Amino acid sequence: MLPQVIIIGRPNVGKSTLFNRLVGKKLALVDDQPGVTRDRRAGDAEIAGLKFQIVDTAGWEDDDAASLPGRMRQQTEMSLAGADVALMVVDSRAGITTLDQEIALWLRQQEVPVVLVANKAEGRGALPGIYECFQLGFGDPVPVSAEHGDGIADLFDSLWPILGEGEKLREAAEAIAKQEAKIARQHARDAAEDLGEEYVEEIVAGPLKLAIVGRPNAGKSTLINRLLDEERLLTGPEAGITRDSIAIDWQWHDPKADEAREIRLIDTAGIRKKSRITDKLEKMAVSDARHAIDFAEVVVLLLDATQGLEHQDLKIASMVLEEGRALMVAINKWDIAEDASGLFNGIRHALDEGLAQVKGVPLFAVSARTGKGLDTMLSAAFEIRESWSRRVPTAALNRWFDDALEANPPPAPKGRRIKLRYITQVGTRPPRFVIFGTRLDALPTSYERYLVNGIRRELGFEAVPVRVNLKSPKNPFV
Ligand code: GDP
Ligand code: GDP
Repeated sequence: MLPQVIIIGRPNVGKSTLFNRLVGKKLALVDDQPGVTRDRRAGDAEIAGLKFQIVDTAGWEDDDAASLPGRMRQQTEMSLAGADVALMVVDSRAGITTLDQEIALWLRQQEVPVVLVANKAEGRGALPGIYECFQLGFGDPVPVSAEHGDGIADLFDSLWPILGEGEKLREAAEAIAKQEAKIARQHARDAAEDLGEEYVEEIVAGPLKLAIVGRPNAGKSTLINRLLDEERLLTGPEAGITRDSIAIDWQWHDPKADEAREIRLIDTAGIRKKSRITDKLEKMAVSDARHAIDFAEVVVLLLDATQGLEHQDLKIASMVLEEGRALMVAINKWDIAEDASGLFNGIRHALDEGLAQVKGVPLFAVSARTGKGLDTMLSAAFEIRESWSRRVPTAALNRWFDDALEANPPPAPKGRRIKLRYITQVGTRPPRFVIFGTRLDALPTSYERYLVNGIRRELGFEAVPVRVNLKSPKNPFV
């Protein structure tokens, strides 16, 4: 059930025009002649994601104020029953008439919240009429021009707090979330098709799809061989030479849980090596990584302890995060690292500085040669996949949201407070959120970062790349 918005006003103020504007179709008859009898018309409207049903009432066609009370009573049940808000429309050019006052008086006795709309507000000629509106006792009017489509975003601002209470807003927000999730699923399906893979929805079980990426000589092949415990990559079948990568399914014995866990490794480096392409290897590290990212849930960026963190490593790391994959960094060749703790802290610091998207990417010290640290790294890879796939229940999410806003309220640029109303998680893998509110285009990025960091730290997403979209009412008719 959509919330219902009812348009009320004397003839010729522009009710039908506003109705058409909001419904986006020419459904109602617009006529210059006052008193053209119309049926009550209903249509589905949407302003910037806020969906409602809008009803255009006939019923005040009779200009004679004296005969009005009877007619109004007649109309009460039909028009206002079930309405969540009434838009009382007046004509700013004509100013407030006796009939407007009668209607306002009557409306004030009703239960329904009223938003006063000063139509025909384009141009300076409308100003006196807009000021007159205050006498009706509904507070600030919302100046709009139904004909030109101006002021609809302001109308949204007024409607949202009313329709936005509780269930109604939730339904509207969830309808949008559903729509977004549908689009995201379609993207995932397309990507799977491109890779020639079967699309499976939101699996957390199934083999962990893990890619090891990094610059040449970081030790990727050695690491994979070590994990597989065989010389498979260098001596294996010719499969893959003409393709860019191969996938290897294997079982890792998880010593902590003492059980076998499925991992599907993607390897690009071993193949490169076999095909004896030695030039442009640096460049290929990036394109290989890109390829692996398409495939993987979790990507391990392998560094060489004797080389440290270089620009290209950050480039690969950023790419992984931009693609929304869970990223881990492992410093390899730890067996020959000098000043181990200085190195570790240096890389920790450089990663936090260099990766704007995520603070605290999981960092491990490993040795492909000795096998040190590999079990810890793999067990963390399973954990980060959990976070990456997690969905926070909407109620818990909004409890957190309310607390976050209370602890640090959004700013009020030029004295007008930015309103943040609701958050919903529209997707996982990576986790995606939408925040609904008004005037969000004025929200400083620092505040957005405050929220994103809060989601990560307080809702258990940690170093997973989290996406947050802001939904704000632009003028939807532009
Ligand atoms: P209703 O009787 O309240 O439904 O009014 P209508 O929608 O039929 O509009 C009455 C007249 O006002 C028509 O001639 C419209 O073109 C005109 N009108 C509606 N909205 C605007 C507006 O925003 N600006 C101006 N200047 N005229 C408008
Ligand atoms: P790739 O280009 O990333 O696949 O790197 P390779 O696996 O071919 O390794 C490059 C070189 O580093 C080889 O000489 C490896 O023996 C060596 N290497 C790889 N891992 C380690 C390690 O953990 N410790 C040491 N000391 N050397 C390593």
